Amino acid sequence: MSTGPRHILSLSGGKDSTALAIYMRDKVTEMEYVFCDTDKELKETYEYLNRIEAFLGKKIIRLNDNAGFDHWHKVFGGYLPAPNMRWCTKFLKLKPFEEFVGDDPVISYIGIRADEDRVGYISHKPNIKTVYPFKEDKIDLSGVIKILEDSGIGMPPYLKWGRTHSGCYFCFFQKPIEWVRLLENYPEDFEKAQAYEKISDEPGKTFTWIQGMPLNELRKSENIEKIKKRYDEIKERSRKNRKNKKLVEVLTEIDEEENESRACLICQL
Ligand code: SF4
Repeated sequence: MSTGPRHILSLSGGKDSTALAIYMRDKVTEMEYVFCDTDKELKETYEYLNRIEAFLGKKIIRLNDNAGFDHWHKVFGGYLPAPNMRWCTKFLKLKPFEEFVGDDPVISYIGIRADEDRVGYISHKPNIKTVYPFKEDKIDLSGVIKILEDSGIGMPPYLKWGRTHSGCYFCFFQKPIEWVRLLENYPEDFEKAQAYEKISDEPGKTFTWIQGMPLNELRKSENIEKIKKRYDEIKERSRKNRKNKKLVEVLTEIDEEENESRACLICQL
């Protein structure tokens, strides 16, 4: 039996961790691939993971906190998670990952790219050593896209309809335009997200995914129109500033959107 460290790569369903899994497949054959499943991901993410699994020729171990999102939602008195109160990441992603790791020495592979200066919310257990192969090997966004295309797996499906990140369908890191796109593409998921919200006259008892904009308001056609108009204006401004961008960034249109919310590496890489 090997006495060396375990090698673990946590997939999120996002492009960078997927590309890293593909990249590492033949380099570290003893790699353990895991996915921390909140059971609230998009259906297409589960399908994408199945395809990755087939390519890797190895099981992606699904880790989950047996209690689940709804349990913790109750424990937190109906408070929805938010950027400054990320109990979902803590209990549904990091905790199952750390339990799986246990006290073994582990090398954890993180898909931060060479063209990113990204820090985030990852496990800091002392027995976990994190490594960044894309940084070490100078693989940037175009390199990641090439790895995904060459493997036949391709980019994550949610990018096609304009969502920028993997993760739960109700993730609070979504921008208003992404909520609109969720409504248009996955109305049932939007309904379920809306059902978690609570509007109350009592102070401190209103819980919404976006502060000050409950989903029952956001979905009104006049608000959708405003959100789309505002998004188009931002896009247009960004198009005008395009001269400093690399072609690949322009083509994929994912750069400036993904630059904005960089907090949950385990959910969104
Ligand atoms: S994807 Fe978003 S909602 Fe889901 S666990 Fe991560 S931060 Fe929380």
